[in-house]
Amino acid sequence: MNETTQAADPKVLLTHYLKKLKLPTMLGEHEKIARQCAEEGVDHPRYLLRLAELEVIERERRMVERRIKAARFPASKSIVSFDFKALPDLNKLLVLELARGEFIIRRENIIALGPSGTGKTHLAIGLGLAACQKGMSVSFVTAAGLVNQLAEARDEKRLLRLQAAIAKVQLLIVDELGYVPLSQTGAELLFEVISQRYERGSTLITSNLPFEEWTSVLGSERLTGALLDRLTHHVHILEMNGDSYRLKQSKARKAEKGA
Ligand code: ADP
Ligand code: MG
Repeated sequence: MNETTQAADPKVLLTHYLKKLKLPTMLGEHEKIARQCAEEGVDHPRYLLRLAELEVIERERRMVERRIKAARFPASKSIVSFDFKALPDLNKLLVLELARGEFIIRRENIIALGPSGTGKTHLAIGLGLAACQKGMSVSFVTAAGLVNQLAEARDEKRLLRLQAAIAKVQLLIVDELGYVPLSQTGAELLFEVISQRYERGSTLITSNLPFEEWTSVLGSERLTGALLDRLTHHVHILEMNGDSYRLKQSKARKAEKGA
């Protein structure tokens, strides 16, 4: 320890060093934890351990928060709030297994198929949220929104940069393929994304259309075949056939009012 270190107020210097080391939780908590440890007769290594633990927990919490924000989910939904009884044919065990996120490490895809209102978007957000909580990077877009972003980037000569950013995301969620038919260029841009992610990252696609009808959205049969070939090589299919949850809920509400 040199003279300046000894002479200066330890509080001021400690604050300076903890800031420099980017340890904000240690900075904020060390005095309180020191008092607790003194009261409990906890030794120095354990004191330091408590502080380090707090820093790690807080850092992970902030990282998850950043992942969730970066994913741009359109609503806040979770697997916990998903009512599996509404879809008796959906494989609940498979969904719970997918929520563990190992499919992302294996770079496998998910396709959720079913009519409107059956909870495809809800489940996609829930799986995306679970992935964020495991520390993985996630991006949520609609098919139309993604194609628009790509076309805009191409016009502004920054397509390669956007494609590289999309290719890097560990789980890309493409919601609502099927409601809006894509232009030929749009379909080609989407195909490129899927092709660039093939065996490099996971993609979750939701669609109201069965595979046989994807040509009506993508235009060309050849392109649809090539896209499905890549997408379905390592895939989990979630069949979400049932009545619209929205419709059921509003009917139930009306029945309640009527009673
Ligand atoms: P889709 O994307 O298939 O059209 P959504 O996921 O948007 O359907 O579901 C419509 C609404 O109904 C949402 O508010 C969603 O949270 C809710 N919902 C649908 N299915 C379920 C379910 N099984 N459990 C709980 N909420 C559901
Ligand atoms: Mg939806």
